[in-house]
Amino acid sequence: NLGLKVEIKTNDEFKQLANAFNVMSTKLSQVDKQRKDFVANVSHELRTPLSSIKLLSESLLHQEKVDALVYKEFLQDIDSEIDRLNNIIDDLLILVDLDKEKLTLDFKTTYINFLLEKIIARLKPLAENKKISLDYIEREKIQIKVDANKIQQAVINIIHNAIKYTPEGGRVEVKLYTERDYVVIRVKDNGIGIPKESLPQIFDRFYRVDKARSRSTGGTGLGLSIAYQIVSLHQGTIDVESELGKGSTFYIKIPIDLNLA
Ligand code: ADP
Repeated sequence: NLGLKVEIKTNDEFKQLANAFNVMSTKLSQVDKQRKDFVANVSHELRTPLSSIKLLSESLLHQEKVDALVYKEFLQDIDSEIDRLNNIIDDLLILVDLDKEKLTLDFKTTYINFLLEKIIARLKPLAENKKISLDYIEREKIQIKVDANKIQQAVINIIHNAIKYTPEGGRVEVKLYTERDYVVIRVKDNGIGIPKESLPQIFDRFYRVDKARSRSTGGTGLGLSIAYQIVSLHQGTIDVESELGKGSTFYIKIPIDLNLA
């Protein structure tokens, strides 16, 4: 709370001014709270893998004789915790970049279908590892103005999630089509689904339905918030439909004629 409040009762105009000021003050307090929460969350997220690393290395250091196999096992655990820290820091740097006040996007006319083909080819091995079929079912040839690197990042995050949260042998389908003034990239999976009560929160930074599952798949809890921010910067939206145990469908919608003014 910034403790700012103005009250003037004598004149209507002044009252309006006071109201506007109070609304702004409340907003500033909210932003301040969000910033504090974010710093607290970041600290917590970084501390968790660090604590594991500390515990693992200490227990190795304090044992007289350690079997070579146990050594290796502990070092592998330390290695994956370091990967985790790297993932979190990479995602945080992306967010810092997207948060920049004077962020300039590199808008270029792009064949979105070719971009999708490239993304799918890149994620195919990951899907094959889990015996998941990753299919691009419609390939409408569509050109739009986007920052291709950023949109690629957003789409990868969504398809990667579909693969992560779908059990072995499942199916992920990607479809590209136009709907009124929008290009729609639909990513549909038949995975674990998202509980109804969690749906409003999944785009929040660090929110996960199941922390343990997210961690074990290398998740940072930041992927969807990054995707959301990128798509918003293109004046688009991401919608989601999901049913627990049945699967989820994400709709990335980007305006065809982006107003770049
Ligand atoms: P994470 O790194 O944990 O995957 P995200 O921000 O990408 O973080 O997603 C937030 C949470 O939303 C995930 O932890 C997961 O619980 C849920 N989620 C996202 N995509 C899917 C999906 N396709 N199926 C089921 N749950 C999902």
